[in-house]
Amino acid sequence: MKICVVGAGGREHALAVALGRTAEQVMVTPGNPGILGSVAAGPEEIDADLFVIGPETPLVDGLADRLRAGGRLVFGPGADGARLEGSKRWMKEVLDEAGVPTARHGAFTEAGPALSFLRSLPPPWVVKTDGLAAGKGVLVTTDLAEAEADVVAKLSGASFGDAGRTVVIEEGLSGPELSVLAVCDGVGAVALAPAQDFKRQADGDLGSNTGGMGAYSPVPIAAPELVDTVLEGAVLPTLAALRRRGIDYRGVLYAGIMLTADGPKVLEFNVRFGDPEAQVVLPRLDSDLVALLAEAAAGRLHSEPVFSPQAAVTVVCASEGYPASPRIGDRIEGLEAAAAVEGVTIYCAGVAKGAGGVLATGGGRVLDVTALAPTVAEARDRAYAAVTRLSWPGMQYRTDIALDATTAAPNALLALGERQKPRGAGARTGWDR
Ligand code: AMP
Repeated sequence: MKICVVGAGGREHALAVALGRTAEQVMVTPGNPGILGSVAAGPEEIDADLFVIGPETPLVDGLADRLRAGGRLVFGPGADGARLEGSKRWMKEVLDEAGVPTARHGAFTEAGPALSFLRSLPPPWVVKTDGLAAGKGVLVTTDLAEAEADVVAKLSGASFGDAGRTVVIEEGLSGPELSVLAVCDGVGAVALAPAQDFKRQADGDLGSNTGGMGAYSPVPIAAPELVDTVLEGAVLPTLAALRRRGIDYRGVLYAGIMLTADGPKVLEFNVRFGDPEAQVVLPRLDSDLVALLAEAAAGRLHSEPVFSPQAAVTVVCASEGYPASPRIGDRIEGLEAAAAVEGVTIYCAGVAKGAGGVLATGGGRVLDVTALAPTVAEARDRAYAAVTRLSWPGMQYRTDIALDATTAAPNALLALGERQKPRGAGARTGWDR
């Protein structure tokens, strides 16, 4: 199969590498100078047997619909389903209708009612932009004045433009977080190995929210029953609620889960592979990703993804000033030496061609250094051994990615069911639709 991956970051690099194991050819549009197979032609000009759309923005903008209208096979929801990520207000409506547990919330366009609702909640306060904000539109704070100022800045359009003109205000939940990515064919779904990501910029989960500073998989706290609970209690009811609205959702449904004292609750849905979760989940996949995504795109999921018992850790190396104002154009040193560390693959995210054709920083998150090893601790050691061989002025990275997981009690899951079974209506009927 000839495959076209749409996107330009580390997630798309990881997709291209994983698909490239069995595909006849992988093209990435627009890709970047660090991704082999990057092409300048736009997706609608490319001839491929399967299109895999990486980022949320083109999904929300209806790229999958346009490609399908041209008779192409596409992995990724249409604009109707992508609204789950494009509007947090709408996502909450669907969750409520589907009976999926989530934080108590309200959505507002006017400061008066927004502030009264905010003040009626106990701390911590959570204020989100309704629209897309590259993972940076969420404030969680124990300072009421800060939350109030954030509501006003978002609603006025000052901080996030139109994305913030509606805000969702939520009760603050607490507990460990987990990302469960399900591959969906419109009716049924199959879970991939769970991952945990690190959204805050600095060690100890301090600093601003970012697009993600690292991730690891498998996750010791994610027992197989928990993944089942998320599939049965969140993913399948959401697919059913979407179907009732006439939406045929074929793509990744990524549930951001918090394990609260009252059970797992959905913090958010994303409509695509996580970045950087893809960089730890896909390298662990031993079975054929091309077949899995092509089946889901065709509405006939029946493959069972098989995961390696190896652990994966990815550490994001970011440019100076990320996330507020990343500095670009700095020459990246040490790439070859870093890639030579055993078990390490470096995915290129925000890179550009610098002077003399060498790679330079070209965005906020620059490189995703992923290592595979028999245990999380060894994978972490390998990833950091590679990271310390890399350098550019102002390069920043967290030093505590997956640290807690190295001391967590091992549990039966560590090798998360090496085989995941598709679930849902399709599964029960032999995927015969
Ligand atoms: P989201 O983009 O909605 O996943 O939010 C980004 C991050 O903000 C999450 O990964 C959580 O760490 C945090 N967060 C979001 N919603 C809540 C909530 N209701 N309570 C506590 N933390 C939250």
